[in-house]
Amino acid sequence: MYEGALQDLIDELGQLPGVGPKSAQRMALHLLEAEPEDVERLTTAINAVRNQVKYCSVCGNLTEDDECSICRDPRRDPSIICVVQEPKDIQAIENSRVFRGRYHVLGGAIDPIHGIGPDQLRIRQLLGRLSDGVVQEIIIATNPNIEGEATASYLARTLSTIGVTTTRLAMGLPVGGDLEYADSITLGRAMEGRRNMS
Ligand code: ZN
Repeated sequence: MYEGALQDLIDELGQLPGVGPKSAQRMALHLLEAEPEDVERLTTAINAVRNQVKYCSVCGNLTEDDECSICRDPRRDPSIICVVQEPKDIQAIENSRVFRGRYHVLGGAIDPIHGIGPDQLRIRQLLGRLSDGVVQEIIIATNPNIEGEATASYLARTLSTIGVTTTRLAMGLPVGGDLEYADSITLGRAMEGRRNMS
C-alpha cells in the first residue's frame, strides 16, 4: 500500500475495466514520473470526452454533434436499420465494412432480473423512426445471449404488427471450434441460419 494521493490514483485506475491492481500501480507510478505535458494531455482528453461526447439524437450512437456522422451521411441507405445494443457494436459492424444502412442503439437488452424491460430501452424511438415508411428492413443485431435473444424476440413481435421486414444476424459457429463445445444458443442459431449448399 502506498499512501495519500498516490494510493488514491492507484485505486481509481483499478476501477477501470480490465485494469488489475498490478497494472493500476504501474500506470500510477508511470504518471508520477511522466512529463507534465504528457499528463496534461491525458487529463485534457478525459475532460474533453466527458464534456463533448453525447448520444446522437436519432440513433443513439456516440457523437459530438446533434446527429452522428452515420446519420448525417447521405450515402447511407435510409431504408435499412441495424439495431444494436451499444454504440461499440456499431464500431464492430462498421469495421466489417459489410453494412451500408443506418443504425439504432437500444442502450442495452431486456433483462428482467436487473429490472430492464422494453421501456428502459430506446424502442419507442425506433418505432418513431418507422412512421414515415422509408424503412423497409430492420436487422436485429443484439448479442447472441439470453438477454439479446429475448430482446430480438420482443422486437420481432412488435415490428411484425407494423409490416416492416425483420431479420436477425445468422450467428455462426466459431471457426476452428468443435461442435460439442458450442453452447446451445449458438448451435440453435447456427441451425436456424443454415444455408442451402446446392
Ligand atoms: Zn446517429
